[in-house]
Amino acid sequence: MRIVVQKFGGTSVANLECMRKVMEKNKKILDQGIKLVVVLSAMSGETNRLLGLARQWSKNPDPWETDALVATGEQVSVALFAMLLKDNGIRARSLLGHQAEILTDCSAGRARILGINSERIMEYLEKHDVLVVAGFQGCDIRQRITTLGRGGSDTSAVAMAAALKAEMCEIFTDVDGVYTTDPNICPKARKIPRITYDEMLEMASMGAKVLQIRSVQFAKKYQVPVHVRSTFSDEPGTIVTKEEEGMEEAMVSSIAYDKDQARVTLMDVYDEPGVAANIFAPISDADIVVDMIVQNPSREGRTDMTFTVPRGDLDPTLKILERIKTEIGAPAVVHDAHVSKVSIIGVGMRNHSGVAAMAFTSLKNEGINILMISTSEIKISILLDEKYTELAVRTLHETFGLDRSDAT
Ligand code: ASP
Ligand code: MG
Repeated sequence: MRIVVQKFGGTSVANLECMRKVMEKNKKILDQGIKLVVVLSAMSGETNRLLGLARQWSKNPDPWETDALVATGEQVSVALFAMLLKDNGIRARSLLGHQAEILTDCSAGRARILGINSERIMEYLEKHDVLVVAGFQGCDIRQRITTLGRGGSDTSAVAMAAALKAEMCEIFTDVDGVYTTDPNICPKARKIPRITYDEMLEMASMGAKVLQIRSVQFAKKYQVPVHVRSTFSDEPGTIVTKEEEGMEEAMVSSIAYDKDQARVTLMDVYDEPGVAANIFAPISDADIVVDMIVQNPSREGRTDMTFTVPRGDLDPTLKILERIKTEIGAPAVVHDAHVSKVSIIGVGMRNHSGVAAMAFTSLKNEGINILMISTSEIKISILLDEKYTELAVRTLHETFGLDRSDAT
């Protein structure tokens, strides 16, 4: 049995007219004799409306009841859509998370999928041509309804595709693919035809607006090809896939940026075993994610420790440091909340040298000062003053040839 999974986001199911467009997309697949699993989000704005209700009702909404509440958004869209398909003579039915036996762990609001009863779904597919599955929701072992975190329908769709060994998971959305950078700040940004899972993961800050990052991790683990494309056009979008020959030819595939950054420096802490642990353990216990870290000897027996945290976590971080300051021997803590991180991403970097030097030179030519640098195999991240973000992105985009249409 040939199977394709198609996922449609909130703006694609916002009203009857949009749903008709969705049905047209379904028909193109059905006409090829392929069975369809259609995963839907709630109609646009609905999840926020429901969360708002929870906050009106309770100062501290119970997380389990919140999940039971927000999951209704997807229940509405799948029922309405299945109704439309049936009216048009298509053999379809809706399935909620627990009916599709999407088993998750027991964490309300950010549950992870543990398994899907694929045999049961295959049985349903014998009798129906389209199964309309509620995204974003599952059920835990105690029969509690769970949700997968904002944007979680992407992950539902990829998990379905993995469980059913579908040929493709198409994610239909209101953008037409993944771009070489944010088109809002760089008009020369272009749609990327193919990108690897790893590059997409590294694009987290930008890419996450297009796909829930967890869905990409899932796709990578089970090698599900994902096609991100627009509901409102027939143009191909971006295929997220495993690395293939030829993909390494382009040195750099995209430039990402993240303005949600703050920098903290602990000056002159003791240079001895355990100091880093003593600094970062309490920060991680507070669920704060530290990103770039640089340790640099300042004078005999002393070292400076600089790192970045999400801007919203700066205050709690400073409070923690205040508490442990004496223990680690830090005479001063300085911070800067107006920094941003610009990243150059590309699997091709593995085989090309000189990417870092090229990036630094182009920033120098614009008079942009680099505050911190961190690298991974396929990414170079540069921390800079927030006010230079747009300029840096545009400059790097041009330097690495991404403005040109033959670059990727
Ligand atoms: N409806 C959920 C949300 O708004 C899940 C999704 O759309 O993917 O986050
Ligand atoms: Mg989304």
